[in-house]
Amino acid sequence: MTGYVGRFAPSPSGPLHLGSLVAALGSFLDARAHGGRWLVRIEDIDPPREMPGASSAILRTLEAFGLHWDGEVRYQSRHHQDYDALLARLGSQGHLYRCACTRKQLKEQGLHLRATCNPPAQGAPAALRFRNDAPITGFWDRAQGQVTVPQALAAEDFIIHRKDGLYAYQLAVVADDIDQGMTHIVRGSDLVEASVWQLQLYRALGAAPCSYLHLPLVLGEDGQKLSKQNHAAPIDDANPLPALRQALWHLGQQVPQADSVEDLLKAAVTQWSHLDDSQPAQARV
Ligand code: GLU
Repeated sequence: MTGYVGRFAPSPSGPLHLGSLVAALGSFLDARAHGGRWLVRIEDIDPPREMPGASSAILRTLEAFGLHWDGEVRYQSRHHQDYDALLARLGSQGHLYRCACTRKQLKEQGLHLRATCNPPAQGAPAALRFRNDAPITGFWDRAQGQVTVPQALAAEDFIIHRKDGLYAYQLAVVADDIDQGMTHIVRGSDLVEASVWQLQLYRALGAAPCSYLHLPLVLGEDGQKLSKQNHAAPIDDANPLPALRQALWHLGQQVPQADSVEDLLKAAVTQWSHLDDSQPAQARV
């Protein structure tokens, strides 16, 4: 075992499809190729978007596909106290402000709405936004090299606690990645841009950022990313080999000759091509 700690962190909004299998497999192979730990975290902080039974279906699929995780599965729904503590800490450090502006107002006012946002009355529903005073505009990605995010997006005062009372993904993901000692984040490219906000939170909390590897997305016939929301076909637990081969192909890996899941994964770990992680995520301001 090395100091490497990685994870797969699905939201239980539906069963795994090929796109989420690519993220699961990519993060698994990277962790195992580095002799590291691979954790699974169910990101169940958004009940309205959850599908009953999806968490256990996801875990069953991972098992059927030979993607065995280390330790206990973590459920974000059991960590509300940790998120509250983090909100209190960020609040007491002056990083947060309340805002009840709508998306429409945000668009009209531009992303720097702090100047025009009227503080909502005490007790009125409001989101908590992060004061993004010194935006981070880029970082080093192990697959994509130096990533630069549009200035306006990087500078957004992003939401970390939603107006409807739910914790925002940005808050929970960083809270857990820090708490679980994550060193490497391997996930889909749909989260590239969110990384600069997450790096902001690491900085505000005085935590060392992880290294990042954002994997190619699997697109459907309509050119859109496969997702649970657009009802991508679930993968078949009874027949894992074809989907694993397809996922390896999407990951740009050689597809080994193997007749069992175990042999395929073993060979895929040996051949994993993303071994160079010498460059840490450099937050560029
Ligand atoms: N829960 C997120 C999703 O399912 C992924 C979070 C992450 O890997 O940072 O899209």
